[in-house]
Amino acid sequence: MSFETAFFERSASDQKDFPASRLPEIAFSGRSNVGKSSMINRLLNRRSLARVSSAPGKTASVNFYNLGFCRFTDLPGYGYAKISQSEQKSWGRLVEGYFCSGRDIRLVVQIIDMRRDPMPDDLEMAGFLTAKKIPFAIAASKTDKLKRSERKKQDALLRDRFGRGALCFLPFSSVTGEGMLELRRIIRDVCKNPRKKTGQ
Ligand code: GDP
Repeated sequence: MSFETAFFERSASDQKDFPASRLPEIAFSGRSNVGKSSMINRLLNRRSLARVSSAPGKTASVNFYNLGFCRFTDLPGYGYAKISQSEQKSWGRLVEGYFCSGRDIRLVVQIIDMRRDPMPDDLEMAGFLTAKKIPFAIAASKTDKLKRSERKKQDALLRDRFGRGALCFLPFSSVTGEGMLELRRIIRDVCKNPRKKTGQ
């Protein structure tokens, strides 16, 4: 179960272009700019397989990375203020299409910027996953940017808001690598044992 031999499989802006669902999938979800691409690159030990950009808001597309034993699905970021209503609709169709088309989704890594308070669309996404009984982990990103006292406060807040429905709560930094090995372990575990509690 190697993370380092992954390759980019496909980018799809329409459900009909998703690759055939033969592999367990780990989906990554979060607001634009939350650090999703950086997290995927860190997990795969690649500098820039997933695109990292400081300008949020791109065409809504789902990117698929094939790891052999599973597939990483990079869902389009949400919450970017400047997108039009029709772009929002196509985002909704695409994401709903992904979650509701019978794919073998073992885990959603729902990423929340640890410095920020939870936003309504983050809570909505967690509520959606809970309602659909899709297992998810909360990854609190950019931990390296917080001072110890802030971190303690945000840790308690985010665990309180998201902890109940989630399989686990995981502080993560793409800069220091904090949480990377633990997240890899969780991913291996859910690929071997679907829908098993993975700790914390
Ligand atoms: P995405 O839009 O969610 O894919 O976010 P990106 O991975 O493109 O990251 C957005 C910005 O946050 C970039 O400038 C990254 O360098 C920065 N970033 C991402 N993760 C981290 C992290 O763990 N720590 C710090 N300090 N910056 C990060």
